[in-house]
Amino acid sequence: MSTPYAEVIGDPIVQSKSPLIHGFWLRALGLSGDYRHAHLKPDDLAAYIAQRRADPDWRGCNVTMPHKGAVMELVDDPGDIRSTIGAMNTVVRQRDGALIGTNTDAAGFYSPLAELDLEGAPVAVVGAGGAARAVLFALARANVGPVTILNRSPLKAMGLLATFGLKGDVVALDAQLPPASLLVNASSLGMKGQPPLDLDLSPLPGDAIVYDLVYSPLQTGLLKAAEARGLDTVDGLDMLIGQAALAFELFFGAAPPEGRDEELRALLTA
Ligand code: NAP
Repeated sequence: MSTPYAEVIGDPIVQSKSPLIHGFWLRALGLSGDYRHAHLKPDDLAAYIAQRRADPDWRGCNVTMPHKGAVMELVDDPGDIRSTIGAMNTVVRQRDGALIGTNTDAAGFYSPLAELDLEGAPVAVVGAGGAARAVLFALARANVGPVTILNRSPLKAMGLLATFGLKGDVVALDAQLPPASLLVNASSLGMKGQPPLDLDLSPLPGDAIVYDLVYSPLQTGLLKAAEARGLDTVDGLDMLIGQAALAFELFFGAAPPEGRDEELRALLTA
């Protein structure tokens, strides 16, 4: 009997934690299926998609750097991804071989915040790259209040406010923070091998939430500083697990098991 499988594609790819996450859920649910890394250079992307499209066992793939833009041109239905988030992280094969593309990062980012009412709340976002686009897309949908973007390249950040129809402003990385209800680090700062993100958190109110998308290391300097101030924090594994959960259901037709997140987090941080 054939085994359904999905993959994560990128260059490099061995660092991806997606096979660990999907493998954990497949085992926990007792489902027959496989999820693996596929190392792919940009020149090989089109041939990969054509070959996999013909394989009925292939349920689809997650897409990481540097293919998130190019893959949008290779699927049959990219939805509104091109004009919104502008990057695709999931391709799903339909039974007839048609390929649908989507982006689960925005919903994955928002999943730990879903219980909160952020309508009208002031938010600060650090960064203006691919992850920031998914964050701003989700924040626009949640009708948050003014958004202050802190970024090294201000022009790029201004364009993003306009793209997502958000009110707010753009300031330098060393500017004082606004009194935001939510601070999100969507930049690479604080990641292993990158400079730290040094922010003075004192302008944030006592009930603010600090959310760092960086998950390597998991306990970033920003999260440590927020905890020292007694603020609530959300780390990058929540988004990683949230975006994977949506893709898992699309690939394997079942929701991930409930109540197993702590076990999964322990596996991912081992
Ligand atoms: P990206 O598209 O390359 O964007 C990087 C951002 O960081 C840009 O805003 C860039 O500023 C800024 N930056 C990078 N190096 C900098 C430096 N030395 N000084 C100042 N600013 C710097 O990367 P991305 O895909 O958005 O990823 C950003 C982070 O989010 C990464 O740490 C990634 O691991 C994390 N992430 C996590 C998840 C998750 O599921 N938890 C998902 C996606 C991404 P400029 O605009 O000025 O270049």
